[in-house]
Amino acid sequence: MTYGKVYIVGAGPGDEKLITVYGLECIQQADVIIYDRLINKNLLKYAKIGAELIYCGKEPGKHALIQERIHELLVEKAKQGKIVTRLKGGDPCVFGRAGEEAEVLAQHSIPFEIVPGVTAGIAAAAYAGIPVTHREYAASFTIVTGHGHQEKGDDRLHWEGLAKGSDTIAFYMGVGNLTYICQKLIEHGKPSNTPVAVIEWGTTQRQRTAVGTLQTIADIVKKANLSHPAIILVGEVVRLRETIQWFAEMDGGETVATI
Ligand code: SAH
Repeated sequence: MTYGKVYIVGAGPGDEKLITVYGLECIQQADVIIYDRLINKNLLKYAKIGAELIYCGKEPGKHALIQERIHELLVEKAKQGKIVTRLKGGDPCVFGRAGEEAEVLAQHSIPFEIVPGVTAGIAAAAYAGIPVTHREYAASFTIVTGHGHQEKGDDRLHWEGLAKGSDTIAFYMGVGNLTYICQKLIEHGKPSNTPVAVIEWGTTQRQRTAVGTLQTIADIVKKANLSHPAIILVGEVVRLRETIQWFAEMDGGETVATI
């Protein structure tokens, strides 16, 4: 049997309308959809009748095993001649393991495409009224993982480079490490009054945003009880929210402190 094809697709950050036209076509045409935890489940209603929908949300601590199983599934279904859409939150190549999955498919000579998506760091910021670059405030923007084993000393981030070399920084998967992240940036030379926004469930009806500074944001987020999934956005661009906030956030989601 000839092989099918795998589309590794970004579903966008939350608002279902933020998927690309091509991404939506991949959902409509798939025989099998293997989807992640953070995608907007409404997108699955565009699947064709009879399509097989497989949930593969990852529980913390079980990543490696489940990821292997996902690789097996992708290969197995494609070898059965199926069109497989591998649907991931945001952009599949931004902390989405698209690279690993594509490597496996390439090793098995299975045809695939990567369909980009709108990544949370940019989209949640935009829905919070914060452009990640701005001619006056930020000429550079960095995407960073805030997830790591910092307490075990396994911190591979180049903090000095981040503190001094990037105007805007978006930390993904970092809300649990917020205190550590702020401390590190201050230690490495970022002014402690640098504005920070934490945006939870960005682009969805549940969006809430807290604003503070490197010094104050950890307490503010704790009091407001913001949690995963959230983007931590550091930089002067956060100030623009005051003027250009446009999206109606969930009650209690208004800026809980000023900069
Ligand atoms: N591939 C995704 C990122 C996956 S990593 C992308 O491009 O957006 C998962 C992290 O993304 C979460 O821990 C959180 O930091 C961020 N994230 C995903 N969806 C989000 C949302 N709607 N609002 C805020 N952060 C989000």
